[in-house]
Amino acid sequence: MRKKIAAANWKMNTTVPEGIELAKSVRQALEGVDRKCDVVLGVPFTHLCAVAEAVKGTDIIVAAENCATEPKGAYTGEVSAAMVASTGAKAVILGHSERRQYYSEDSETLVAKVAQALDNGLQVIFCCGEDLEERKDGRQFDVVRKELEDGIFNLSEDEFRSVVIAYEPIWAIGTGETATSEQAEEMLKYIRQTIADRYGKEIAEETSILYGGSCNGKNAPELFAKPNVDGGLIGGASLSAEKFLPIVEAF
Ligand code: PEP
Repeated sequence: MRKKIAAANWKMNTTVPEGIELAKSVRQALEGVDRKCDVVLGVPFTHLCAVAEAVKGTDIIVAAENCATEPKGAYTGEVSAAMVASTGAKAVILGHSERRQYYSEDSETLVAKVAQALDNGLQVIFCCGEDLEERKDGRQFDVVRKELEDGIFNLSEDEFRSVVIAYEPIWAIGTGETATSEQAEEMLKYIRQTIADRYGKEIAEETSILYGGSCNGKNAPELFAKPNVDGGLIGGASLSAEKFLPIVEAF
């Protein structure tokens, strides 16, 4: 059965000491909780080692928020997937709309990053989603299908099994405006069908597909109750254990 996942995306928030505190408080909050989902903490590069250490001995998964397109060499300022994996991180978030928008990450870049991540044994949380104009024009399905086709549908079946999809409509990220549970379900069902068309029904049924965009403890139960919504990628509400815990408990 496919996994349910509550994944935090801290983005560019917290200093290292603050991040260690946050990871410890999440760890503490989860102790004794009968969890029905995997918990992933997506944290800045600088925090990976320390956060991996802070959650050691638990099944909390640490993820990076990016990795380089190249394996190593003269790429000042870049962080390779091998470096990420060497910290104890087990996953990486790729294709987030903020990276696509502000750092011009296109599908070609993402294909290279995904390949690096998988070559280094990292699970990929691959983000996709339309902007407001595209939604208003009714083009959301075409946009999302193209992002999947151009970013990850080059993968072999085996490789694809290491991918989690996060559908994040850009108009819902950090805006306080959440997609309705019907809108989320409609898109995630479409994504699962698109995966089935490419990789077959069995792989589609095994793929975890998350919703992201102003998800919080209040709206998570309704979103996660939908049959195709396997969890959430959580930005703002992952920055305190108090706000994150109800999301983890929402399954
Ligand atoms: C995100 O950027 O991954 C996200 C979902 O952010 P927020 O929860 O703050 O909308």
